[in-house]
Amino acid sequence: MPDAATMEKIVALCKRRGFIFASSEIYGGLGSTYDYGHYGVLLKTNVKNEWWRAMLQERDDIVALDSAILQHPKTWEASGHLAGFTDPMVDCRTCGQRFRADHLGDLQCPQKPSKHPGEGPNCDLTEARDFNLMFETTMGPVKDSGATVYLRPETAQGIFVNFKNVLQFSRKKPPFGIAQVGKSFRNEITPGNFVFRTREFEQMEMEFFVPPDEAPRWYDFWKQARHDWYVDLGLRADHLRLREHDPDELSHYSSGTADVEYLFPIGWSELEGIANRGDFDLTAHAELSGEKLEYFDPQTKERYVPHVIEPAAGADRATLAFLVDAYDEDDLGGEQRTVLKLHPRVAPVKVAVLPHLRKDGLPERAQEVYAALRGRMQSEYDEGGSIGKRYRRQDEIGTPYCVTIDHQSLEDATVTLRDRDTLEQERVAIDGLADELAARLAREWRSPKE
Ligand code: ATP
Repeated sequence: MPDAATMEKIVALCKRRGFIFASSEIYGGLGSTYDYGHYGVLLKTNVKNEWWRAMLQERDDIVALDSAILQHPKTWEASGHLAGFTDPMVDCRTCGQRFRADHLGDLQCPQKPSKHPGEGPNCDLTEARDFNLMFETTMGPVKDSGATVYLRPETAQGIFVNFKNVLQFSRKKPPFGIAQVGKSFRNEITPGNFVFRTREFEQMEMEFFVPPDEAPRWYDFWKQARHDWYVDLGLRADHLRLREHDPDELSHYSSGTADVEYLFPIGWSELEGIANRGDFDLTAHAELSGEKLEYFDPQTKERYVPHVIEPAAGADRATLAFLVDAYDEDDLGGEQRTVLKLHPRVAPVKVAVLPHLRKDGLPERAQEVYAALRGRMQSEYDEGGSIGKRYRRQDEIGTPYCVTIDHQSLEDATVTLRDRDTLEQERVAIDGLADELAARLAREWRSPKE
């Protein structure tokens, strides 16, 4: 059976249910920027928290960092971004649109969408030119005399420039990592496919510093670990793959790069890159800053520049992958339901409490149950509309459990617990309900679409 998820359906659901909106919509939108609504914030926060959990809570060799978005311009000189963070672009003299020269085969001609840019009868493309993707702004009150600074195009460099600070306070020695989550900005020539490629996005990056001879082993380790993270959070294993870059795809500093790719409706696309960056970054920053960025091993009396393994993921792209993988349309005996079969750990809301009727003391009892649950997990109370409608609403935002309070609840202190995936309903006691739900939410979960 073909997958029910298409990009159009995901965009429509995100808008309808308040996950993600086009930014500045009342002014006609602003080139590929998006705003996250209530459920989108909850979902993306869960994705980021799961990443932090994997990096910090489940390991003891990684520390956290939150560096500034604006950094000294020399940062971008050392990293090579000022000189080389470019994409080739072409302009069409006919329609005035700009395209990435290396993506023409994936793009549509705006005037003749069945053709690629350059292939339509009126297309008139310029030669390819390099275009720097960094956003520039000015620091200081006077634009003319202020210094030009850049919005960071990746979070990684904030980690490298803090290497010495972190080494001093954290009492770590290689192998150890520094992890950061935050916004990055790239003036992408052809953004698109919803939040897959935008000009403002969030990254989740970790730089793992290792003794040089251990780099190949850690590169293999992180490739597998990062692939498995997505599987553990419920993405279908047959929709994920690790793709090693060909030698001609590698950046000049990298001796190995692999992408975790997901089978989006637009085809296999990068979710995350894992790179063996050698000592390129620390050496470049040491040279330009004059600071020693190395590690002295007091036991072996050896001094060396650690090598770096970098898993670099995108929070928005991962969120989109979770949405796509979860989206399903079930046929319930003639009636269709749209449902997000999200892993309970990433689902925005864990449980919805629903009084069966808006009378006979049911809302009051339901409010008590809700009050007991909300301190333990993200919960929602809803008494508007028929019970079927309320179930549908929760299905569409991916809530794994619904608790319904009915007349029997007043008599025997039980509720109906409905499972989003199996649709099974069972009666469980109100006493101990939060523990029961917490246990269910912590269980291993595999996509029913698998
Ligand atoms: P691409 O080839 O798709 O442009 P990249 O290889 O330049 O990506 P990296 O620099 O390795 O990407 O960044 C790491 C991760 O950050 C990517 O795997 C992706 O998840 C995310 N990312 C990069 N650029 C964007 C963007 N414009 N919009 C959303 N996420 C992005």
